[in-house]
Amino acid sequence: MARETYKDFDATELYCPRCKRAVRVRKRLLIILPQGEKYDYSCEHCGTTVGDKLVTMKDSARIVLR
Ligand SMILES: [Zn+2]
Repeated sequence: MARETYKDFDATELYCPRCKRAVRVRKRLLIILPQGEKYDYSCEHCGTTVGDKLVTMKDSARIVLR
């Protein structure tokens, strides 16, 4: 699994390893954790998860990417 850091993860297009090109993604709330809300980004075409992000509640401006 690719571990890249995206500065702006709310971009409408991300690279999909399955489609082998930049694709439009769907953002959805995956789970609410004690440390914040985790969002999942999946490819609009094949549904492959292309990334996720954790938005902390303490400081919503700080986005931690894994
Ligand atoms: Zn895809």
